Amino acid sequence: MILQCRNTNSNTGTQETHRKRSVQQRPLRLAVIGCGRRIVFVAVSSVNPLPKQVKIVEVGPRDGLQNEKLTVPTEVKLQFIDMLSETGLPVIEATSFVSPKWIPQMADQAEVTQGIRKRPGVVYPVLAPNLKGFQAAVKAGADEVAIFSTVSELFAMKNANCSVEESLQRAEEVTRAAKAAGVRVRGYVSCVLGCPYEGHVSPDKVAQMAKHIYAMGCYEISLGDTIGVGTPGSMRAMLDAVSKEVPVDRLAVHCHDTYGQALANILVALQMGVSVVDSSVAGLGGCPYAPGASGNVATEDLVYMLHGLGIHTGVDLQKVMDAGAFICRFLNRRTSSKVAQASCRL
Ligand SMILES: [Zn+2]
Repeated sequence: MILQCRNTNSNTGTQETHRKRSVQQRPLRLAVIGCGRRIVFVAVSSVNPLPKQVKIVEVGPRDGLQNEKLTVPTEVKLQFIDMLSETGLPVIEATSFVSPKWIPQMADQAEVTQGIRKRPGVVYPVLAPNLKGFQAAVKAGADEVAIFSTVSELFAMKNANCSVEESLQRAEEVTRAAKAAGVRVRGYVSCVLGCPYEGHVSPDKVAQMAKHIYAMGCYEISLGDTIGVGTPGSMRAMLDAVSKEVPVDRLAVHCHDTYGQALANILVALQMGVSVVDSSVAGLGGCPYAPGASGNVATEDLVYMLHGLGIHTGVDLQKVMDAGAFICRFLNRRTSSKVAQASCRL
């Protein structure tokens, strides 16, 4: 609790008002969430010590490149993934087994999966949105897949051309088949902090969806602020709800930097016990719903912040910047990483 007290300044003899925190009281735990025209105050959980170690899930080759306008040749993708494999990143999401009709940039999914020089200890998941995609992924040698879900009916319809219920049925088919084949499944929930079509998203709805796909057998649930509208306040409220349904050590956050809030949102997630964070080298991606907006949080910026906090990642920042410079040169685009820009490498 914050208390006010009045003291006399010994130099000036004037009375000053100081704000002082009572030692017996814990910090006031309130967050303010903008909700349309209303301002909502919600109680939030207390701040935990930061994790000693964070697992970074690199999503640049899939989430990043699929949102870039330029189609990248297979050999460039493979060189890019091989460079990322040398950085110490433990997980690199390689491609997506979606229909090339929907995402032409991922048409070489099988060649990419087969062509990676897999480094021992590094995991290379691929997105498998349905059973057909899963079967093709396994045939190509994928050892881990990711399924996709969302809480927004309109987003599901626009993004996957099906209802939320139908997308869950597809995900269930994939998780069942993966279990039988001994393949691990990671689950995404998208639009957790806002939807481009439906606006505000209820934290409870996100919590129920996360619980549902966790129960399906996903070993980790990545909570995606797909359009990057979240703030530390809405992130805190959402994680508060979700962590009541899914153990926090099974949660990851996936933040886009559209409104420049990604690192602040990630810091809040770390304070709440999350220790898995998705990011994309050079901030590859972009937001299909806000032209010109930033994409995923840049891996370089995330690594810089985590190391600054004394958190172990096992990642070599210089090597990540080299991989970022390589792909930006090919895409003829400027890096979105503030750290890479500050290092004057492009
Ligand atoms: Zn993303």
